[in-house]
Amino acid sequence: MITVKEATEIVLSHSYPFQEKLVPLEAAVGNILKENLYADQDFPPFTRVTMDGIAIKYSAFYEGQRSFPVEGVQAAGSAQLTLNKAENCFEVMTGAILPGNTDSVIRYEDVVISDGIATIQVNDIKEGQNAHDKGKDRKEGDLLIKAGTLITPAEIGVAATIGKTHLKVCSLPKTAVISTGDELVEVNEKPLPHQIRKSNVYTILSLLQQHHVPAVTFHVDDDEAEIFNVLSKAFNNFDVIILSGGVSKGKFDYIPGMLEKLGVKKTFHKVKQRPGKPFWFGRNMDTTVFALPGNPVSSFMCTCRYFLPWLRKGIGLDPLSYPHAKLASDFSFNPELTYFLQVRLNYTKDAEILAEPVEGKGSGDLANLADADGFLELPYERTNFSAGEIFPFIRYR
Ligand code: AMP
Ligand code: MG
Repeated sequence: MITVKEATEIVLSHSYPFQEKLVPLEAAVGNILKENLYADQDFPPFTRVTMDGIAIKYSAFYEGQRSFPVEGVQAAGSAQLTLNKAENCFEVMTGAILPGNTDSVIRYEDVVISDGIATIQVNDIKEGQNAHDKGKDRKEGDLLIKAGTLITPAEIGVAATIGKTHLKVCSLPKTAVISTGDELVEVNEKPLPHQIRKSNVYTILSLLQQHHVPAVTFHVDDDEAEIFNVLSKAFNNFDVIILSGGVSKGKFDYIPGMLEKLGVKKTFHKVKQRPGKPFWFGRNMDTTVFALPGNPVSSFMCTCRYFLPWLRKGIGLDPLSYPHAKLASDFSFNPELTYFLQVRLNYTKDAEILAEPVEGKGSGDLANLADADGFLELPYERTNFSAGEIFPFIRYR
């Protein structure tokens, strides 16, 4: 049986760079940017008034003048006005272009305006105050955001301001999520005493949605002909197939046999890990297959720990850049398997990230997933783990 490290290397060796596509700005958040974004003009593009008030020429104030006849009003969105006389002023509004022949803005709070004369009430003003110089933040042509950056609302604002209606992002692989099992019924059905509602497909689907992976769900019963039919169609239409269930040793676990019958090259079956030991991975011509064990914690953990790094690599990101967390209390795990311990995070006042074990009752205990924040990856060579030790943390919350 291979180790988690070996399984990871094999999975990642089957990754490939995804194509690019353009998405509208409004749909781009959460994607990875695949182009550099440059300033199309200076930031700000004109010297901008930053306070409502009056704009004057500082030299007049410096020479002792305190009262300035108002020549007009410079509003935001209006073309630039220019002072005719250096001893006059304009009323100016935040966001307006600074009028020509002025250089400093005194806020209304420090001015009294009466009969068309603005009188400054303070003696301490600085040349250039309350005016944000053209090009002060960034210059035209500056690199603003590098390709490979996660698009957050901050990047959306920058893209909008440089006139990008569309952004180049990765075209993510079309994915089929297929549940298997005669015991499964739909979410809107009431299960008989020997049945359960299917949950895995929804967990996995939502995880894929969080990463913008286009996905469709299917179900197959534990029936060889049905599995063969659904899978053969899926191979023609999807880049990735994620299966849940039917990969263990049970009499009706037909998935590995059917995949091989369909010509999928198995690269491994079973990994030294808990949960998720029966994980099967392979590749057809153009389709990558993650056949995961059906237990909800197993299939979820495997999707987080193997599919997502595979996806990250295809996007061009570091696939294994996990955060780490500190085990909050001593913990033991005897079998020679990598243990993915469910933990809840606590952030201490000393800026430590503590991982509190919330073990749950095994790989079928999906309710426990809602109590945890992620999995702490404990190496298979060891049995005892001490409070304070640091381990990779696979986060889903
Ligand atoms: P299997 O891997 O098919 O042997 O399934 C292992 C366990 O996971 C069984 O108890 C199944 O009922 C359960 N299981 C399989 N598929 C799902 C699913 N889609 N949603 C919830 N539980 C499932
Ligand atoms: Mg099954």
